[in-house]
Amino acid sequence: MSRPIINILSNANFESKKTASTLHKELSNNGFEPFNGFNKNAKLTICIGGDGSFIKAVHKNDFPEMPFVGINTGHLGFYQEIKPDEIEKFVLDYKNENYKINDIKLIRSDIYTKNKTYKMYSINEVVLKAAHSKTIHMNVFIDRNHVEKFSGDGILVCTPSGSTAYNMSSGGAIIYPSIHVLQMTPISPVSSSAYRSLTKSVVVPGSHTISLVIEKRYKDSNLLLVDGSEYFFNNLHRVNVRLSNKVIKKLSFSNNSYWDNLKDKFL
Ligand code: NAP
Ligand code: MN
Repeated sequence: MSRPIINILSNANFESKKTASTLHKELSNNGFEPFNGFNKNAKLTICIGGDGSFIKAVHKNDFPEMPFVGINTGHLGFYQEIKPDEIEKFVLDYKNENYKINDIKLIRSDIYTKNKTYKMYSINEVVLKAAHSKTIHMNVFIDRNHVEKFSGDGILVCTPSGSTAYNMSSGGAIIYPSIHVLQMTPISPVSSSAYRSLTKSVVVPGSHTISLVIEKRYKDSNLLLVDGSEYFFNNLHRVNVRLSNKVIKKLSFSNNSYWDNLKDKFL
């Protein structure tokens, strides 16, 4: 029988490269076939780096169905479950199938321009802003109900796993990753006698659609952030955001608790 292929994706920093070579040896010694890069026939992709590396790996390989696991050499590593000094234990646990697979929920954005519709996925969030750091004005609908006329820096919509990233910095709540909801958080909302915007986050059922309809003057001067990457659209009219049926599968080991991780990273 052929050895199961396991992808190793590493960022370029020194510790990640060192970790990659230790991992390579450990996997070989345990009957696996490590592959440096992304092989579609692999059973698992191991991503070495921080959250940023994990996010990039998932986007670059088009949200694949095979499971991921991360070894954290980043600053935070919220998605990165394993520490570089736990490789031996991780390989044994993996070999003995001593793990669970969790779904990371994804946001699907449908982007409507005059002549074309685009579809994009996010792990953390999508943010709609004005270009050149101007305030943006837009109408916000939730499941076709008009909720507000927003003005401010922008509107952020995040997944539960993404709630601890940009959302949290913007005053949003931490959402436990298994809850099927979307959170919409205003970024620097203007609330004056001239403009009234909600100043707090709103959490909606995952089956609802949040629709952001920008005013005409922003149709060619907008900025969409998808997991931190910038996109500009011409003739943009509306962005519809909802939770996707598509997910990213991630290995989870019993010794890892969400709350320990949270305390570790933020307190
Ligand atoms: P980056 O600007 O290099 O780093 C953003 C920071 O956010 C890193 O420390 C990263 O951890 C951390 N992070 C990413 N996802 C997280 C999550 N789900 N929970 C907690 N922390 C998380 O950008 P990047 O590394 O490419 O990551 C893209 C993300 O940056 C975006 O999706 C957005 O959420 C976030 N961002 C945050 C702000 C802000 O807080 N004001 C502004 C812009 C973008 P690692 O060190 O492990 O990579
Ligand atoms: Mn980063």
